[in-house]
Amino acid sequence: MYKVILFYKYTRIKDPAKEMLRQKSAAEVLGMRGRMIVAEEGVNGTFEGTLDAVTKYMEWMKADPRFSDIHWKVSNGTEDGTAFPKLSVKVRKEIVSLHLGDPSTSLGTSERDIDPNKITGKHLKPKDLRSWYEEGKEFYIVDMRNDYELESGKFEKTIFPGMENFRDLREKVGEIVHLKDKTVLTVCTGGVRCEKASGLLVREGFSDVHQLDGGIVSYMEQYPGQDFKGSLYVFDKRLTMHFEDPENHTIIGTCKLCGTTSERYVNCANLGCHLHFICCNTCSPKNEDAFCSESCAQVGK
Ligand SMILES: [Zn+2]
Ligand SMILES: [Zn+2]
Repeated sequence: MYKVILFYKYTRIKDPAKEMLRQKSAAEVLGMRGRMIVAEEGVNGTFEGTLDAVTKYMEWMKADPRFSDIHWKVSNGTEDGTAFPKLSVKVRKEIVSLHLGDPSTSLGTSERDIDPNKITGKHLKPKDLRSWYEEGKEFYIVDMRNDYELESGKFEKTIFPGMENFRDLREKVGEIVHLKDKTVLTVCTGGVRCEKASGLLVREGFSDVHQLDGGIVSYMEQYPGQDFKGSLYVFDKRLTMHFEDPENHTIIGTCKLCGTTSERYVNCANLGCHLHFICCNTCSPKNEDAFCSESCAQVGK
């Protein structure tokens, strides 16, 4: 069994190109595959490797003061180490982009990006969220993931601004403006998106903003099957994951075509659509063959 690690760190990287080469050769030497982005604002990555390889990598990173306090998320990978097709380590402008000031959005160009080291939500440990549920505290979970990611699983009490893409966030804030004086908790897969998303809410005047420390994956690991129902969408070949015993696992996803219970994702076979959606084994015996709708099926013919 291979292991998948998920990690990020907002920290100043002086020379991203040089850091990228260092990271790439480390991953190569350890035989890991996966993806990593290096930017001036930090690093964001996910790798699959043998237990020995990922352990060595984490030790190597911990020895570097810039990365010593990374919150590592470890989960079971594939049997044969094929969660990722290859190793890709790239330099980008940001590790997560809100596209603030992007001329392609309607926001104008004066908006500055969020620096989580300066403005971000309060980190909430999974055990503290568990107590919030237990105490019946009034709070609202704002899920910062993309819409298709919520289809296989989400927290109870979730408010979802309905994002087709994380870039929509700035425009979607208006839909949760009624929560400005409430206790708000932002969540995402491993926490990296919430660092900026919660910071944006703080900047927009939300008064009590928290972010789930270590993301949904850390909560599920500690409290499998509790409060977060279903499976967590992940960006590798596994597509979804959970920490429950298979016999106790609850599937909350439903096939978009027939409504039967399923958490199997496929892409719409109409390349002009390419919607990522849940589709059961019966509606699409082969993963590639499904159309998400009647109109897409017409185009495909
Ligand atoms: Zn179906
Ligand atoms: Zn379609």
